[in-house]
Amino acid sequence: MAEKDIYQEVLDMVNREDIVGLPDTPSMLKVLQLQFTPEEAELSLKIGLTGGTLDELSEKTGIAKDELKKKLWTMADKGTMWIDPRGDNPTYRVLGAAAPGLIETGMFGNIRFPYDVELGKALHPAVVEWARDRLCTLGFPFAPIWAHPFILPDDAKPEENIAEFLRGQDYFSVSSCPCRLSHWISDPGNHCEHMLETCLHSGEAARWFVQHNQGREITYEDALELLKKANADGLVHSININGFICNCCTDCCPLFVGFYEFNTKTMVPSPFIPKIEEDECVACGDCADICPMKAITVDQIAVVDPDTCIGCGVCITHCPSEAMAFMRRPEQVELPEDVAKHVG
Ligand code: SF4
Ligand code: SF4
Repeated sequence: MAEKDIYQEVLDMVNREDIVGLPDTPSMLKVLQLQFTPEEAELSLKIGLTGGTLDELSEKTGIAKDELKKKLWTMADKGTMWIDPRGDNPTYRVLGAAAPGLIETGMFGNIRFPYDVELGKALHPAVVEWARDRLCTLGFPFAPIWAHPFILPDDAKPEENIAEFLRGQDYFSVSSCPCRLSHWISDPGNHCEHMLETCLHSGEAARWFVQHNQGREITYEDALELLKKANADGLVHSININGFICNCCTDCCPLFVGFYEFNTKTMVPSPFIPKIEEDECVACGDCADICPMKAITVDQIAVVDPDTCIGCGVCITHCPSEAMAFMRRPEQVELPEDVAKHVG
């Protein structure tokens, strides 16, 4: 099989087996060419996104177990192979599109300079195309937004609190944001100024990240501190798929690219929305300036558009008059069932 065809086959396989899939574009094919050797691409086609144990995959591929294990660990170090260590017999599978997946993992490690420069240049347009061709064509908003956990109202349930989710986890890691890093590399001088190390992982995802040099180990307290710093930097806590939590900016994140560039709602709002204390609001406009959705207008007082607000809470922590607080959103937007089963 010609090399070009192998990468197209890998892309087609991901798009058959993954709920979101990858953009079928030259940039994405270039990302795959940089991530997989031709031999790894061939192996990936045999393993697929379902994968299996080493015994099963050895039988399927005809490769001796020791030799196969080395190959799969090399791929895991490159961010193309997921190894789930739970149970006595680890399972292996090719990574899908995201959380974590091939649209991100090449830039998580931040240790492969200068190899990553070429990958970053291919990855940034692929991320934009991913937003355009996949996220915005799903037909439903894909990513749940988490309200900032330190300003939740008293009636917030534990399952609505990302800090409570993290409390139940036993291991944590953080990585540089691949969307932001690839934007920086591919478009120098025209990128955001937000903090870079913002991708938070927990449980088995965190173990995989640390074991394969894609992230560094942190504590639960560090994880909470990261959420505070991200909120202070105007970033939005989003998703929680496979223990994988993003802190998104409007400039680099495909969720916001989908909203701003392609006019599509890609995010499921949190169950909360800011309420304004009219007597306290001094109409300074700080909340409108920081709101990542541009959901606030300020005339005599601030007014939040409930159809646009995603309930992130960035405005609340940036109000100098403490005139804003979360209240429960009157009508909650539900995640589609097949997405919800991967979340939390
Ligand atoms: S930041 Fe606070 S005080 Fe300023 S306009 Fe917004 S709600 Fe009013
Ligand atoms: S108004 Fe804007 S900043 Fe405030 S919670 Fe809604 S989306 Fe977030």
